[in-house]
Amino acid sequence: MTYYADLTPYTYDSDNGDPEASGTWRGVEVLNVGWLRRGKRYPKGAPPPKLAATLNRMARTHRARQTRGFHDCPWCTSRLFLGRSDGPRASAEIRVMGSGVAYAAPELVGHYVERHRYLPPAEFIEAVLSSNTAS
Ligand SMILES: [Zn+2]
Repeated sequence: MTYYADLTPYTYDSDNGDPEASGTWRGVEVLNVGWLRRGKRYPKGAPPPKLAATLNRMARTHRARQTRGFHDCPWCTSRLFLGRSDGPRASAEIRVMGSGVAYAAPELVGHYVERHRYLPPAEFIEAVLSSNTAS
């Protein structure tokens, strides 16, 4: 899957005609979060309690467009041989409304937090934990 640095503007130029593919969503700018890739450094740390669980729940409740093809977790998959994968796989996004912006994260972002110590940007964490999905 393609790498996008955190908090860069969301663009998806090759997907003409899909209104959710543009850089805006519900009238605000969309920023990338969690589009990690093997070989690219990413921020690590101890996430706040409930972050991973909330993100995993959002993978069901905040599912957005099927997008950017199938992607497997780049770390879990790489441990396997012959290209077979029994790691997590995703094909959709989570969209979260923040304060004046929205965030588009891969469905696997909760897995990245839980298993690979990914620490998303603070404003994204705040938006996730203040959503009604957090409990
Ligand atoms: Zn993994």
